[in-house]
Amino acid sequence: MQIIKPKEFFRNLPSKQCPECGTHINEQVESYLMECDHCLSKRDE
Ligand SMILES: [Zn+2]
Repeated sequence: MQIIKPKEFFRNLPSKQCPECGTHINEQVESYLMECDHCLSKRDE
């Protein structure tokens, strides 16, 4: 049986990516924001 260490588990999580332009989103961004700052600012207009 393989034991997964918590550190390895979190490292294997897929990084969040903007569906509009594919830019990797900083994980510090609030989780409900699905798009990067660039696309969000475009959407406001
Ligand atoms: Zn984007």
